[in-house]
Amino acid sequence: MADSKYAEEDATAVPDNRNLDVGSSVEKRDTNLNSSSLDPTDWSAFRSIAYRMVDQSIEFIRQIREKPVYSSIPIPQHVCHQLDEPVPVNPQGLEKVCEDFNTLVFPYPLGNVHPRFWGWAAGAGNAGAIIAQTMSATMNSNAAGGRQSSTLVERQVLEWCREIFGFPDTYGGLIVSGTTMATFMALAVARNHALGNKYDIRLDGIINGPRLVGYASAETHLCNWRAFELLGIGRNSLRLVPVDDNYCIDMNQLDKTINEDLEAGYTPFCVIGNVGTVNTGSIDDLCALKRFASKYKLWLHVDGAFGALAILSKELKPRLLGIEQADSLAFDFHKWLHVPYEAGCVLLRDKNQQLATFSSHGRYLTDDEIHYEDGYELYFQFGPEVSRGFRALSTWFTLKEHGTQRLGEKIYENCEQVKYFASLLSLYSWIHVHQPITLNIICFRVQPEGLTDENEIDTFNRDLTIDIQQSGVAVPSTTVLNSRLYIRCCVMNHRTVYADFDIFMDKIVKITEKRSSK
Ligand SMILES: *Cc1c(COP(=O)(O)O)cnc(C)c1O
Repeated sequence: MADSKYAEEDATAVPDNRNLDVGSSVEKRDTNLNSSSLDPTDWSAFRSIAYRMVDQSIEFIRQIREKPVYSSIPIPQHVCHQLDEPVPVNPQGLEKVCEDFNTLVFPYPLGNVHPRFWGWAAGAGNAGAIIAQTMSATMNSNAAGGRQSSTLVERQVLEWCREIFGFPDTYGGLIVSGTTMATFMALAVARNHALGNKYDIRLDGIINGPRLVGYASAETHLCNWRAFELLGIGRNSLRLVPVDDNYCIDMNQLDKTINEDLEAGYTPFCVIGNVGTVNTGSIDDLCALKRFASKYKLWLHVDGAFGALAILSKELKPRLLGIEQADSLAFDFHKWLHVPYEAGCVLLRDKNQQLATFSSHGRYLTDDEIHYEDGYELYFQFGPEVSRGFRALSTWFTLKEHGTQRLGEKIYENCEQVKYFASLLSLYSWIHVHQPITLNIICFRVQPEGLTDENEIDTFNRDLTIDIQQSGVAVPSTTVLNSRLYIRCCVMNHRTVYADFDIFMDKIVKITEKRSSK
């Protein structure tokens, strides 16, 4: 793996201290082996605090349904004031920290653990993984790789993903913080691969290189153009191609755009497919994108942040056909797999391309020092981060505890729940449900009688959403489709049951009536 081109120069002169005069006597210092670490002095007191906190955590999850989704927005002023304290120079003790946590922090989450949280694209977490995260903090592994169990667990999780998505044996990948980081890495590999041997971008940067351009649909998530910005390719170089009636990339427009670029002398290098867009959950035709990518010799990257794991559902799997042919795939475990934050993944077709982009050698970090052997990858060479949390553990716990079949069934159930909710909404003539509904996202617009001005209807829906959120009954969010504001629910929640939509529906009707009668 050594890539001497990028290695730092060897240290030449090693100072030789052997002949230094060390004196004739040493005054003995503290001889108590247990005296002065940051660990508890009273372990039984620590144990009782810890048990209490664990019980509290279990009760929180167990009773989550009984609580309002949002406890309080905004967070009370006095809480903000109390959180605003000077640097704690003197110890406050664990008891006090837990007390502050319980009064100032714990009561004010975003609400995404609750069964009626359907805003944005948030994951709900799962109880078993609380243990995983505690154990991961206990081991405090730096998952940089080498001969330690975190390496084997990460390799196992990646290997499962390879199998789930049908990637080849040559694959590479990494567990990362989320799809944003996964996208950044995948597109870095794509960029370096495209420049190939002609330009050594790692040594020279992209100055004097060709003008790279890439393609994605107009519905693509912002993390894709953020990667273009950070990789020095520039946001304008990601062409946002119009979508068809199903909110999927329009293949004719795509072809037209690339031909204009080729004529103008640009160098197209990648096309991005979406599996589950944030607005409507649409899935691009990955087979068509693969044909397009082959025709123009482009890298096919897939953004499957939440949607990719729909592959675990036997009903949904056929819709993801072609994903196995991607050059890279970015997706999250912390969304539809319900692993607690943060846990995302990048898969790449070719591990060598990944290493060619990221691996580097410094004299303070040599491969043999951290026990590199076959089978123990050096994961710090697989991406931009050197120190890495043991993120793979929560995913390993969740996959093993629940199994892919049940996890897939829960994913499919969310899609069925959204259809059920659509049928509830369609009972009201003054509610417009946006079509098509392709996955687990539903967008609708309330058009109360007497309101005809579209801008006023936008405002009405925005206020209605805020009222619903503040009521504590449910958390939807909003989006804009065809220039109009819609209330949006992204159901990615294993705690949600069908009856939750009856409760939500009631609230929508009540608040609409109340607002309309004002
Ligand atoms: C959430 C999301 C992202 C970003 O992923 P993070 O895990 O938040 O970094 C990208 N694309 C889509 C479609 C998403 O839903």
